Amino acid sequence: MLAPPWNVVECQLDINQTRLDIHLDFSGGSRFTCPDCGQANSAVHDTVPKSWRHLNFFQHDAFIHARVPRIKCNNCGIRVDHVPWAREDCKFMLLSEAYIMLLVPSMPVKRISELVGEHDTRLWRLIQHHVKKARYEADYANVKQVGIDETSSKRGHNYVTLVVDLEESKTIFAFEGKETLPL
Ligand SMILES: [Zn+2]
Repeated sequence: MLAPPWNVVECQLDINQTRLDIHLDFSGGSRFTCPDCGQANSAVHDTVPKSWRHLNFFQHDAFIHARVPRIKCNNCGIRVDHVPWAREDCKFMLLSEAYIMLLVPSMPVKRISELVGEHDTRLWRLIQHHVKKARYEADYANVKQVGIDETSSKRGHNYVTLVVDLEESKTIFAFEGKETLPL
């Protein structure tokens, strides 16, 4: 949940536009921790208005708005503070991201885009970000036994070969075709 110094200051529900706008703000005189060096108690220099897409609230498109503080750090100078509810430079809130990534393995991205009311190109960008990050962080040092098998999609055509960690029952590599490893 939202932690101090952040508060919800206004909620506007527009039935005709099927839109919910939630406005957040921090208490006057609040001090923030520098996102770069961790220096606590940094004063607010000025603020930048920003908006984020939230999960739809029933049939309403939901948006969060806040003035994001730029803080004056003794070590680093003027820095934009990271707000606790969103990944930097990302218009989806973390909660929406988690929700979308939960749906990804079980349904087509086009269907998710209809559910959350967002363009699928935008969703693909989000998915690629998380897949790339997960691949970068993956560690195969403890894989002892792999199984290699092909499977086909669309009734016997379009072969896909899977390389599976047999102990964890987890796919660790996949490529199109069934003849040779693209190594
Ligand atoms: Zn700093």
